[in-house]
Amino acid sequence: ASRIVVKVGTSTLLYDNGKLNLYRIEQLVRELADLSSQGKDVILVSSGAIGAGVVRMGLSERPSGVKEKQALAAVGQGMLMHIYDKLFAEYGQVAGQVLLTRDNYVQHKQYNNSRNTLLTMLKMGVVPIINENDAVAVDEVKIGDNDNLSAMVAALVDADLLIILSDIDGVYTGNPSKDPSATLIHEIKEITPHIEQIAGGAGSALGTGGMSTKIEAAKIATASGVTMCIASGSEKGIIRRIIDGENVGTVFP
Ligand code: ADP
Repeated sequence: ASRIVVKVGTSTLLYDNGKLNLYRIEQLVRELADLSSQGKDVILVSSGAIGAGVVRMGLSERPSGVKEKQALAAVGQGMLMHIYDKLFAEYGQVAGQVLLTRDNYVQHKQYNNSRNTLLTMLKMGVVPIINENDAVAVDEVKIGDNDNLSAMVAALVDADLLIILSDIDGVYTGNPSKDPSATLIHEIKEITPHIEQIAGGAGSALGTGGMSTKIEAAKIATASGVTMCIASGSEKGIIRRIIDGENVGTVFP
């Protein structure tokens, strides 16, 4: 794979207590910077803006109001980008921020424009760091979750591989937090209604986040010829291991 999109979820970037997991962010950037310096095209789709905003403002929990979340996203996005920029620079790479909404993908002119921007950044050797434009996006123009966003980005740039890093190492035969006997599915060749069901069911309460948005992402990715892999963001060297073809995580070939 020479063009790779990596998506990291909040659960990978933050500790359970809500603080930024700088150790893990540093490892992630080191792996991505290494790939980039090897001449691979690397794009990072990063969540965590609201969480970082909560930390920065010294709040004890996430606010429930939309306006407050958007304000915190503005604070946290800047903070996250500052950290990414600093770490990529330490490894000799340049990162650039791109904030998207649904319109940038579904409207023909904007689609071409976003695509050209990303391709030009890659040509310049810049690592695009992408998030939804949470500070200003309203529901009507939102993609809504970064799993779907990352698949749209992968399709947009004709990526070879989309890696979704999560707090779990792949799709299980049932939700492991409820069913301890659930086992990891290594490969999903076809997204059947059964697969959708074990992932939480389309349109269930888990509709945003969890496994169901990752399955939606897999549909978008595979329909566009992008191989997708869901794997654990806490495992060291996981990105390299996936690229080297090791049998880790769940692959949608
Ligand atoms: P992220 O922040 O990385 O996007 P999420 O917490 O949104 O992660 O999604 C991963 C979670 O989805 C798992 O920790 C698990 O609790 C839940 N889940 C539900 N169904 C499944 C399943 N069939 N296999 C694996 N995880 C599942």
